[in-house]
Parts: sequence; structure tokens; C-alpha cells
Amino acid sequence: MVTAIYPGSFDPVTNGHLDIIARAVRLFDRVIVAVYDRPAKRLLFSAEERVEMIRQAVADCPNVSVERYDTLTVEYARRVGAQVIIRGLRAMTDFELELQMAHINHRLAPEIEVVCLMTAQHYSFLSSSIVKEIAALGADVSNLVPAHVAQALREALGSREKPADSERGRK
Ligand code: ADP
Repeated sequence: MVTAIYPGSFDPVTNGHLDIIARAVRLFDRVIVAVYDRPAKRLLFSAEERVEMIRQAVADCPNVSVERYDTLTVEYARRVGAQVIIRGLRAMTDFELELQMAHINHRLAPEIEVVCLMTAQHYSFLSSSIVKEIAALGADVSNLVPAHVAQALREALGSREKPADSERGRK
């Protein structure tokens, strides 16, 4: 029985993340999507909201669960008995940081393997930050995130969408 955790901030979950989860499910017996509580970046959604959005998106996947954590990722992996940490790779720019993190994690927990999965090419441009950026400017993100996430973005960014709407009205 191989358990893998897929850690990240998921602010919010995108179709790129879901693509990685779908690939991971085919490789491992159990996949835990681990939502990091306090990443060193400004967040739009609370940990509960980020967890809930992923839970809804993976509701049909029997071997996937979603939990939040606020410790070192390797500590969390040990606590839940995971042997593997999954990370997603979009481009070479991701690789350098992931390699550095994998080396650090290996020092901290040599028994845990980091497995990087390559995203589908059509998601290689997709990140939570780009989704938030274009959603804030009023763009349609419905082909980049699940419908309930697009709705949550509209609600969270509602006040900032207005200037973009009025811009459009002026054209
Ligand atoms: P973090 O703050 O840990 O980078 P993210 O939520 O941004 O958290 O990403 C979590 C993981 O998912 C990372 O390994 C990241 O490279 C990967 N990832 C993000 N977007 C995509 C995507 N479009 N395709 C594949 N992997 C992705």
C-alpha cells in the first residue's frame, strides 16, 4: 500500500492541479492532497475554503482525501504514513525550485521519495496566481478551474471585478 501526499497552497485549485491528482491516483493506492496552511505568500482563500474547493473537485475519486497541515511537509508525510511526496512540473522554471526542495526534503527524511509528475502540455501555463490575476480583471476562467472555483473567485474578487467591467463598458 503506497500512500502519496500532494502538498501545495492551492489558492485556489486549478485544472492543472487536478490533472496531477488524476495522474497520481493511477500510480498510488492512496493520495492525500495536503493543503499548506500558511505559505509565505499572500492568500486569497482561507485554508478551510481551499480544502473545501478541492474536496468538491475530487468528490468522485475514492482514493483521494484532502487535509490541511501546518508543519514541515516531510513531518506531515511521516505522520500520515506517506512514502511519497508528489509535485507537479510545468516547465524548466519549476524544476530548479523543485530540485532544491527535493534535496532538502531528502536530507530531512531520506525514506520519503519526491516524485515529480509532468503536467499536460495544455496546462503548462496555468498557475493559481495567473488565474487570480485574470479573474480579478474580469476574464472568464471557466476553462481553467472547476465551476465552483470560478464562482468562488467571482465572489472573492467581486469588488475588484467592477473596474474591469466598467472598462469593458467604455469600449
Ligand atoms: P506551492 O505554493 O507549493 O507551489 P501550488 O498550489 O502553487 O503550491 O502548487 C502545488 C504543486 O502543484 C506544485 O508542485 C506546483 O508545481 C504544481 N502545479 C501548479 N500548477 C500546476 C499545473 N498547471 N500543472 C501541473 N502542476 C502544477
